[in-house]
Amino acid sequence: MSEDLDNLRKTVISCNKCELAKTRTNAVPGLGYYKSEIIFIGEAPGRNEDLWGKPFVGAAGKILSEALEYAGLTRDGVYITNVVKCRPPNNRQPNTQEIDSCNSYLLEELRLIRPKIICILGNTAFGSLLNGNSITKNRGKIIKKNDQIFFVTVHPAAVIYNPQLRQVLKDDLKSLAETLDNIKKGKSIENIQ
Ligand code: URA
Ligand code: SF4
Repeated sequence: MSEDLDNLRKTVISCNKCELAKTRTNAVPGLGYYKSEIIFIGEAPGRNEDLWGKPFVGAAGKILSEALEYAGLTRDGVYITNVVKCRPPNNRQPNTQEIDSCNSYLLEELRLIRPKIICILGNTAFGSLLNGNSITKNRGKIIKKNDQIFFVTVHPAAVIYNPQLRQVLKDDLKSLAETLDNIKKGKSIENIQ
C-alpha cells in the first residue's frame, strides 16, 4: 500500500508530462498518512513548496496547520496534496492542460488512500473535482458525488488576503472533523448536498 504511494511519489518527482516541469525546482507529490480518512486538496505548490518538495510548507501551510490543530487533526494523521504537483511560474493558476496532465496522479492518490472524505481547499480544487465555481457560496458544505463524500472550504492562502477567513477555515475544519466522526459512527450526515 504505502509502497504503491512511494512508487507514485517517484513517478511524480521525475514527471515531464506538462510545461510546468521546465520551470519547477522540485515536483511536490502529496504527503501524509497513507491510511488517512481525509485527503486535503489544494491548488498547486508555491515558492516554498517548490524549494522543499513538500506541500503546504509556506505561509498558507502554517495557516492550514493551525486550523487542523484547532479541529483536533494533525498533519501526520492526514494526507495533503494538490491538483497539480509542480509550481506554476509566479504562482499563476494552473491552466486546464496542466490540470488534465496531472489528474492521473491525483486519481491514483485517491485510489490508493480511499479517504472517507475529500476536503477541497479553494476554487481550483473545487472546479477540478466537482465542477464548482464559488467557494464563498459553497464553503462548509458536504457534497456527495459518485458515492464519495466531499467537504468544501476556503483555500488557506485566502486567509492571508482576508484575515476574517482565518476563523471560517478553523470552524469549517472542525465541522469536517465532526462529519468524519459521524460517518465513522454510522450516523446519517445532515446538510448533505
Ligand atoms: N498553496 C497550495 O495550493 N498548495 C500548496 O502546497 C501551497 C500553497
Ligand atoms: Fe507532471 Fe503534474 Fe508536474 Fe505537470 S504538474 S510535470 S503533469 S507532475
